[in-house]
Amino acid sequence: MGAALCGRGLSCRSARQGGQCASAGTGHRARAHTIGRRQLQLRAQPFILIAGQLSGVEGYTESIASGLLAGRYAASLARGIAPTPAPRGSANGSLIHYITHAESKRFQPANITFDLLLPLEEELRRKIRDKKERHRIQCERAITAWNDWLQAGQATH
Ligand SMILES: Cc1cc2nc3c(=O)[nH]c(=O)nc-3n(C[C@H](O)[C@H](O)[C@H](O)COP(=O)(O)OP(=O)(O)OC[C@H]3O[C@@H](n4cnc5c(N)ncnc54)[C@H](O)[C@@H]3O)c2cc1C
Repeated sequence: MGAALCGRGLSCRSARQGGQCASAGTGHRARAHTIGRRQLQLRAQPFILIAGQLSGVEGYTESIASGLLAGRYAASLARGIAPTPAPRGSANGSLIHYITHAESKRFQPANITFDLLLPLEEELRRKIRDKKERHRIQCERAITAWNDWLQAGQATH
């Protein structure tokens, strides 16, 4: 997966026709604080979107997932539409929330974990003693948030 996506197109090839495309080598992670928005846009160059390990996520799945988001945001920007960020309640949104909010001095690249997902309400946590069941509910909520976001995107675009 390409490390960076241009906001004017989905790929380097389309970017060459209408915009610019940036890339970087393995291990050269952008500091998370340079990504100013939940839409993975660089603070200084909002038409440059960052995904994959360059953005601060770790792992194959996380890199692919963040690339999917950056691609969708780039497609919106290319059509002059402000992208709606993935919801905090979804797994992908939780990961992006982490990389855009973590303290830069102590920043560590992140895999998706249950700790990054929205926690259950205190009352529910106390009521449900089974950890697997708590995780199941967190996943169910995350999937619902993701599907709602996808459907809303399809309705508006
Ligand atoms: C030894 C090792 C083992 C790992 N094992 C696992 C594992 O078991 N499971 C797991 O989930 N993750 C693992 N990871 C982490 C995983 O590899 C990365 O998180 C993931 O590959 C990052 O994907 P990416 O697309 O962001 O970057 P990359 O996979 O690094 O892709 C970036 C691509 O951009 C290309 N590129 C760079 N500069 C340019 C340029 N100027 N022009 C054009 N192309 C360019 C590079 O050649 C590369 O193909 C491992 C990492 C390492 C180093």
